[in-house]
Amino acid sequence: MKYIRMITDREGECYGILKDGRAFAAEGTPFTGLELTGSSYDLQDVRLLPPVSYSKALCIGLNYRDHAEEFGLPIPETPVVFMKPSTALIGPGDDIIYPEMCHRLDYEAELAVVIGKRCRNVTEEDALSYVLGYTIANDVTARDLQPKNGQWTIAKGFDTFLPLGPYISDEVDGGNLMITSRVNGETKQKSNTSNLIFPVPYLVSYLSRVMTLLPGDVISTGTPGGISGMNPGDVVEIEIEGLGILKNRIAKA
Ligand code: MG
Repeated sequence: MKYIRMITDREGECYGILKDGRAFAAEGTPFTGLELTGSSYDLQDVRLLPPVSYSKALCIGLNYRDHAEEFGLPIPETPVVFMKPSTALIGPGDDIIYPEMCHRLDYEAELAVVIGKRCRNVTEEDALSYVLGYTIANDVTARDLQPKNGQWTIAKGFDTFLPLGPYISDEVDGGNLMITSRVNGETKQKSNTSNLIFPVPYLVSYLSRVMTLLPGDVISTGTPGGISGMNPGDVVEIEIEGLGILKNRIAKA
């Protein structure tokens, strides 16, 4: 199943299912059960929203060996974790706002896990049964502000710094997916989620032993090597095998 959230003429804001390139409107949520309303739309006739809204987005830093190496940092022994506020969330096609305070704005292509069920103290073996599915995240970063703050809340937490989407799929194996980013059509990052230092079951189990994970919560699993800056007017695309393309434009503040 491919889950979307959208605004339609008839239903207004609703969840839906993406099938054969069409958007089928539904009542309910993927967490409580979806019932199709009977109406469907061409994708260009609806506005896609971020596929989920979260109580917390937990992001993993330095979870690909080559990304840690490009910073000259040691491979972490436990996951580096930070959070993004709900106000950072935007959807496919929305603008990423280049903050006035920032002088280098980076993309970070990431596989995002969407939690499907309330989850606390789960084992790695059981972890995936609490996952609704996967989507694409761009962990947008004010790179020049990152070292200044000691921790990353400011550098990672501006409004619009978490593009998410276009849909959540439960049809892929999160442990083996090609992940690519492009700026203005030029490939910048290319890796595979099999290179994650801490894989998805480990992350879900580890985080669930710290805090209760709620339906809709997002775990963004970290970015591979190849980061660089973006400028206003640039178009950034992140593509993950089986999860489509997340495309956003950079706009001036
Ligand atoms: Mg990141």
